[in-house]
Amino acid sequence: MNLIILGAPGSGKGTQTTRLKAKLNIPAISTGDIFRKEIKEETELGKRIKKYLDSGQLVPDEIVIDVIKERIKQPDCKNGFILDGFPRTLEQAKALDKIVKIDACINLSVPKEIIVKRLSARRTCKNCGEIYNLLVLKPKVDGVCDKCGGPLFQRDDDRESVIEERFRVYERQTEPLLKYYESRVPVITVTCNSVDAPPELITEQIINGLKRLKLID
Ligand code: ADP
Ligand code: ZN
Repeated sequence: MNLIILGAPGSGKGTQTTRLKAKLNIPAISTGDIFRKEIKEETELGKRIKKYLDSGQLVPDEIVIDVIKERIKQPDCKNGFILDGFPRTLEQAKALDKIVKIDACINLSVPKEIIVKRLSARRTCKNCGEIYNLLVLKPKVDGVCDKCGGPLFQRDDDRESVIEERFRVYERQTEPLLKYYESRVPVITVTCNSVDAPPELITEQIINGLKRLKLID
């Protein structure tokens, strides 16, 4: 089962993808996570892309498409995968169509005011990447990851000035993808209208959508 998950920055794509991966037993591929790791490890790729992530701009399509092509060739993807943060442009979507068939698209619809509140409250584990939120998904101990004990930090691009820019980029380049997919694959739309909607409710609605489409039983 090959899935993609669409939604604005901070709509909960990462959180939902992590949960779905455990339930569906297929790997989650986050281009954002891949890029942050490359930057942290100061690889050649990391050095080329750092400026884009720092400013909230998109990494050029050729680079992202190459990274994804390599990743989905890996043996762990043979029964499917969930793509989180890819595709983000029409060019990327078209490139993806040439390499695999997508079975469904999950669309997380969240109003902008809620997103800004959420992103400013988001914290990420430095070790394992687990995502927390000081409003709804607090760690048991302040500043410490429940899963691995690693330190939590705020991503540089989760500051309010960069959040605005990421949102503009999303509206201009990524939102149009929804129309593209609506005419090609089944789309499961889940709407979240409050800051403190429990993530497990959203997961449940996605799972129900996949059942309706008979992609799982
Ligand atoms: P979010 O969805 O919260 O904005 P991500 O972790 O998905 O965060 O992405 C962080 C940054 O990584 C983006 O702002 C962009 O610079 C880069 N990036 C991630 N995925 C892509 C992609 N598919 N195309 C271009 N740039 C990307
Ligand atoms: Zn952790």
